[in-house]
Amino acid sequence: MRLLIFGPPGVGKGTQAKLLAVEYGIPHISTGDTLRKAVAEGTELGKQAKAIMDSGRLVPDGIMIGIAREVLTAPTAARGFILDGFPRTIAQAEALTGMFQQLGFTDVRVVVLEVSDDEIVRRLSSRYVCTNDGKIYSALIDKVTLATPCPQCGGKLIQRDDDRESTVRERLRVYHSQTAPIIRFYNERGATITVDGGRSVEDVNREIRQKLQDKVQAHQHP
Ligand code: AMP
Repeated sequence: MRLLIFGPPGVGKGTQAKLLAVEYGIPHISTGDTLRKAVAEGTELGKQAKAIMDSGRLVPDGIMIGIAREVLTAPTAARGFILDGFPRTIAQAEALTGMFQQLGFTDVRVVVLEVSDDEIVRRLSSRYVCTNDGKIYSALIDKVTLATPCPQCGGKLIQRDDDRESTVRERLRVYHSQTAPIIRFYNERGATITVDGGRSVEDVNREIRQKLQDKVQAHQHP
């Protein structure tokens, strides 16, 4: 299974991608996680990316295409993957199409999660992440605060710098102007399934798997 997952920041892409990775036995590749790891490790890439990420803008295409090429040509991605956070611009989408052609990946499917901008702002301003195991919690659903230890490992919970409201609004603006046209690009090729991301994690996951299965069957029996 080769999947791309799209949706505005905070729609639950990472959560769903992690579940699908386990369910289909494929690696979850998140370009945002790759960048956050580089920032935490203080690498040259991390130093370049930090200020851009904190402002809600996009890291330059050249850097991101290099990262994507590296992860997609790795042996771990040979039998399938779920790619989360890439492509985000038309230039990245075109580069990805080239990589897929080169690698002979023809069965790529695209999951699009939708939810309103107001719901995104409400969700992200209450999203906390564990600095130790990376698990994500919601103050609204999990009843945690910044003073609560991580319910799984006891680590410290923090708010991501780019989850502040002003940054979230900028990330939404960038998403609508730069990333939404890519979804139209995949839509025109009949590769997408669209799911309402405003429901529970379990309901969204169930619908994604159902729609992916329907799509595979439709493909096999046109
Ligand atoms: P995410 O966790 O996917 O929302 O990514 C967090 C931030 O990392 C984004 O707001 C961007 O600044 C940067 N980023 C992640 N993936 C990309 C990408 N494909 N192109 C450009 N910037 C990216």
